[in-house]
Amino acid sequence: MTGQVLVLGGTGEARRLAEELIAAGVPVLSSLAGRVAEPVLPEGPVRVGGFGGAEGLAAWLVEHRPAAVVDATHPFAAQITENAVRAAAAAGTPLLRLQRPGWTPGPGDTWRLVDSLTEAAQAVAGYRSVFLTTGRQGVAAFAALPGRVLVRSVDPPDEPLPAGATLLLDRGPFSVADELALMREHAVDVVVTKDSGGHLTEAKLTAARELGIPVVLVRRPPLPAGVVTVATVAQAVTWLSGRRSTEPR
Ligand code: NAP
Repeated sequence: MTGQVLVLGGTGEARRLAEELIAAGVPVLSSLAGRVAEPVLPEGPVRVGGFGGAEGLAAWLVEHRPAAVVDATHPFAAQITENAVRAAAAAGTPLLRLQRPGWTPGPGDTWRLVDSLTEAAQAVAGYRSVFLTTGRQGVAAFAALPGRVLVRSVDPPDEPLPAGATLLLDRGPFSVADELALMREHAVDVVVTKDSGGHLTEAKLTAARELGIPVVLVRRPPLPAGVVTVATVAQAVTWLSGRRSTEPR
């Protein structure tokens, strides 16, 4: 591929993809939303901030004419994923969705799958000490919880916290030993998480299993229809190099 690849990022996969493309001599521009105060930056050039909806992104694609867009955003970042589909179609830009697989329960896991943060809040209303790891956005869904709630996020939430909240600002990766110690310290009796998948934050699930604690897991939004989707950085690199070999010279 001769032209630049636009990587919609904010994930570990997006950073690894940028790194691999740069190593292969492929020009890349990573895009971040600008939500986190001190983001972990990928290698290479980075732009920060929204495009202005699907229309804004389409206009950006028409102006800059990248050879392809890889949407490597978080599985729960549904708005930018939808925008990318609409914008790429409007601008005629090839689009790939890179999304890591979700987590799967193993022996000893007690998982309850729910469809929303609201449903997750209802599922944990009867517990005494909830460990909330769903991130900064949407914490308001848990504001009415009556018990203790350990809220962990990278930056402080803007939304109201439950009365019994303890806020822990931290960023993964987390080790199983640290997660075990944290859950013991706070006498956690249920964990709430999104099905983000990946290794950086899965230690909490292992710790919950070891402690015999149930996990409430929020299901992912559906994948965009009609878009080629891959699960690994290596598959994304292969798809991009396949496009290079079919590019007009
Ligand atoms: P979202 O709801 O899907 O997107 C909201 C708006 O943010 C989009 O319409 C777009 O603004 C802007 N945006 C999102 N990702 C962008 C990107 N990579 N580059 C430029 N603009 C972007 O997204 P979100 O859930 O708030 O997540 C924001 C970012 O954090 C994503 O990039 C995602 O990868 C990362 N992240 C999200 C989560 C999560 O749980 N949601 C967890 C970890 C990391 P315009 O409409 O103005 O273009």
